[in-house]
Amino acid sequence: MSVDLKRPYDPENIFAKILRREVPVQIIYEDEYTLAFPDIAPQAPVHVLIIPKGPYVSSADFGAVAKDAEIAGLARAITKVAEQLKLSGSGYRLISNTGPDAGQEVPHYHVHLLAGEKLSSKLVKKTSN
Ligand code: 5GP
Repeated sequence: MSVDLKRPYDPENIFAKILRREVPVQIIYEDEYTLAFPDIAPQAPVHVLIIPKGPYVSSADFGAVAKDAEIAGLARAITKVAEQLKLSGSGYRLISNTGPDAGQEVPHYHVHLLAGEKLSSKLVKKTSN
């Protein structure tokens, strides 16, 4: 089910449980502000989720409410993950689905990092429904 952007943060969402280590996670990168781990259903040879540790529902919530240090921390963490995975030369795609029209399913802000092959041409395909 898609995320309702008007609802408050749900501390029982799956990424909150991952942050509290209530479910197992393979950590790719972690620092004060950020955690990165593999997507459970990868859409590319490399598919990493990069999330802030703070309780933000979406990209919109993060951009409006997060402290500057958290926003900078996430941006720097994305670059560090890409460097750590040796993607700086071959490249990668960042996606952040926000709300129902984008199909956001987990109500904790996350950035998808996709890489490891030539990705399909750009992004936008309208669904039939
Ligand atoms: P969204 O559709 O919200 O942009 O992306 C949510 C992503 O979270 C999906 O790609 C989905 O595969 C991933 N995901 C959902 N549950 C889990 C989980 O328990 N562990 C991990 N690692 N990824 C998950």
